[in-house]
Amino acid sequence: MRIRFLGAAGEVTGSCFLIDTGGLSFLVDCGMFQGGREASIKNRAALDFDVSKLAFVLLTHAHIDHSGLIPRLVHKGFDGPIFCTSATADLLEVMLADSANIQEKDAEREDRKPLYTLTQALRSLRQLRAVSYDEMFSPAAGVRACLRDAGHILGSAAIEVWLDDAGKKLALSGDLGQPGRPLVRDPTPIEEADVLMVESTYGNRLHKTLNATVDELCQAITVTLADRRGNVVIQAFAVGRTQEVLYLLIRLAQAGRLPQLDIYVDSPLATKATAVTLKHWRLLDPDVAPTFASAMQAHGKPSIRFTESPEESAALSRVRDGAVIIAGSGMCDGGRVQYHLRDNLPRSESSVVIIGFQAQGTLGRRLVDGAAQVRIFGDEVDVRATVHTIGGLSAHADRSGLLSWLRGFRRAPGRTYVVHGEYETARTFCAVIERELGWHAETPAGGQVVEI
Ligand SMILES: [Zn+2]
Repeated sequence: MRIRFLGAAGEVTGSCFLIDTGGLSFLVDCGMFQGGREASIKNRAALDFDVSKLAFVLLTHAHIDHSGLIPRLVHKGFDGPIFCTSATADLLEVMLADSANIQEKDAEREDRKPLYTLTQALRSLRQLRAVSYDEMFSPAAGVRACLRDAGHILGSAAIEVWLDDAGKKLALSGDLGQPGRPLVRDPTPIEEADVLMVESTYGNRLHKTLNATVDELCQAITVTLADRRGNVVIQAFAVGRTQEVLYLLIRLAQAGRLPQLDIYVDSPLATKATAVTLKHWRLLDPDVAPTFASAMQAHGKPSIRFTESPEESAALSRVRDGAVIIAGSGMCDGGRVQYHLRDNLPRSESSVVIIGFQAQGTLGRRLVDGAAQVRIFGDEVDVRATVHTIGGLSAHADRSGLLSWLRGFRRAPGRTYVVHGEYETARTFCAVIERELGWHAETPAGGQVVEI
């Protein structure tokens, strides 16, 4: 059996693993590379093999860095089934269309062909096959697979695959969530594998506790709105983080811990993802699902508005204070958040809250790294607003969260590959695994092929 690490090896984006047993080949994930010019070159060069020979694709979750090249895969000739949870399938309908729109717009601006079109994205959705968590299914003869809740975002899965001919069992963590986070459930443990691939996004650090994180968010909002009379721009991923932040704001407001505020969700993608979340609320943590669902459907406090048209969005630039604007986009590099950053970064009375991982080369990363000036729409913008990085709400498990999931294995997997982490982080986490668990682990390089 052979595994080719096509992406998310020594970096966090572009998740894509090609598994070839000799008689059969398939992909786990088909993600887009993100962050800068180099990523766009890699996306165009990706999937450089005969994709029509693939038997099927298994998809861990809907984030674009795991799913974003599916339309290109289908356009290049893959016509087999793509297995994922039904919540992931619903999210993909929203996310791949959004991704295609971005591709088309960028291509038009730069006068070149898009990576894929909206038509191609919509066509690729027909190949999605929804399966339930914990249900064994057979994607091809001699192969069985099972999706386990990874607790990362709605519908996210870790995957177990049994390859009968090769006599091997694979386990892929996908992106793992931190145990005890709001909204999603805790990751489901997996007990054994001959070959394991585990993510390591935050394998080198420990998140703050949820309480400390919520206090930090509460403090940032209170100081900005009540004392300084500015706005708070929250950069949160449209899928997952936005719903989690909304839930926390609802809880804080209901507990009387926030000043008077108007919450705007200014991202059509986040609005649609919130609707999908409400549709699948039964998959959420049973302790919080009813509160979230009822608060989102009721009209009350706090006031939550989902802006629809570009005009409504543009009107937000006239709001000088009292607003908490949650705007999605990957890593501040696209979407409406850029307008709110342009309006609020130069204002010392405003704050920007960054939640979620920001890859190297993105605008979000430059803000996290403390840049005094950033470029937005070709203009230099001074950073006078307070920039808060709230890492504790990350959708990814930290070092101890990852280790506790790994401790679910009853014995060391035959091979352990640490993926989905920046090079140094993956190396560090590899050493942690060796020291704490006594397993041998490796960090494959992008494009590397291993024989097992
Ligand atoms: Zn993810």
